Amino acid sequence: MRSSISVRRAAACAPAAARGEVPVGAVISRAGVILSVAANAPRHLNDPTAHAEMQAIRAAAAAIGSDRLADCDLWVTLEPCAMCAGAIAHARIARVYYGASDEKGGAIEHGPRLFEQPTCHHRPEIFPGIGEGEAAALLRGFFAARR
Ligand code: ZN
Repeated sequence: MRSSISVRRAAACAPAAARGEVPVGAVISRAGVILSVAANAPRHLNDPTAHAEMQAIRAAAAAIGSDRLADCDLWVTLEPCAMCAGAIAHARIARVYYGASDEKGGAIEHGPRLFEQPTCHHRPEIFPGIGEGEAAALLRGFFAARR
């Protein structure tokens, strides 16, 4: 189960990288069923909020017809930023699995540490370092190609 989601998560990065976006992919699942798969797309969509997690949350919420994604798992290749962490809390996502840590832009274990703030009303379970090697390699390859 986990490995099949990991493969889909990595595959979700491909369209982002092909479009010159930072290759981040996200998957939302519930009870082992995948609800959405999304790639980072802010440049492609001219939308600064179109991070992979935001795209995946919008699609999953539309798929189940609710703004609450309770009992859902979010899988993402990179530590979520403050915007996405906020959306994760609003969506009431139960568990977040992410790959590479992001010292500069992350908001879970770095920067604002959003879920540790007293004003954060929903704290998902966090599982860092899931598929980290694979996620970090994708990002390294992307930035190496742009240099
Ligand atoms: Zn984000």
